[in-house]
Amino acid sequence: MYSVSPFVYAFETPEYSALFNFFNGRILMCVSNDEREDLSAILKGNQGSESSVLEKLVSGDFVRKASYDPYKMLELVYDDYNHCNGTLTVIVILSEACNFRCKYCYEGYDGKVMESDTIDGIINFVKNYISNNYCKKIVISWFGGEPTLFKTEIVAFMKKLRTSIADSVEVSGFMTTNAYLLTIEDFKAYCEVGINGYQITVDGFEDTHDKLRQLASGDGTWSKIIENLHAIADISSPNLYVLLRVNYNEDVMVRIFEFFDYIKSEFGDRFVIHAHPISKLGKDENDSVCNKEIETNE
Ligand code: SF4
Repeated sequence: MYSVSPFVYAFETPEYSALFNFFNGRILMCVSNDEREDLSAILKGNQGSESSVLEKLVSGDFVRKASYDPYKMLELVYDDYNHCNGTLTVIVILSEACNFRCKYCYEGYDGKVMESDTIDGIINFVKNYISNNYCKKIVISWFGGEPTLFKTEIVAFMKKLRTSIADSVEVSGFMTTNAYLLTIEDFKAYCEVGINGYQITVDGFEDTHDKLRQLASGDGTWSKIIENLHAIADISSPNLYVLLRVNYNEDVMVRIFEFFDYIKSEFGDRFVIHAHPISKLGKDENDSVCNKEIETNE
């Protein structure tokens, strides 16, 4: 007898039934009526007959033998991640303040900024962690709001952290940014303090992007971001990694493959593209949500 993993989320649309496994990222979609009926019966506990759906559920870890303890496995993965790979990742949100007002954003734009005591507390936490754990690398992941509004604080933090811990521990950074303020000068300043991974969002061509990702004033942002991308594209370093995130709804989908070709023609292989359907992440009144998916090769 199998039980459904607690990490599995099931949902239905008129066209298909689907399961998403938050533990391993796998997705199972059943489109034919036969498969949908099989899936529904299995999820209700009727697992008597052999079926190809049951095979897929087992191979994707959507269901497991009842004796299996999924939380034990989660503990092991967590321990392994924290203690065996020797990397500590700390996500830092200095503020929810942002110069954008994206249609699908879930932030509250609270203008409060993290206090210096708290910033020092993060550095102390990292120092203590290194003293008590096997740790060879620290990654500070800057998130917001919009981190580039706080360049001075970020650069100061990275410098202070570097001088606060042993040279044998590598310090690097990652930044999720809208890139509107990411000029070449600022980009170089971030790279100099070890921020070598970036996620920048461009939601297709100017017409769709500017409908979704506007400044607080309502003005468009696409051309400024593309200008900044052109400037930073010329900077290369073996560790530098820039991911272009494309959030898509049905409008963006219309020309999405043309947009991928455009990025390739403008920037070659400089940027990695990751496309993702716009999902509901908090606000009720989000009319940009997309229920369709496209196949991409990242
Ligand atoms: S860039 Fe857009 S999605 Fe990100 S915090 Fe600002 S408004 Fe929200």
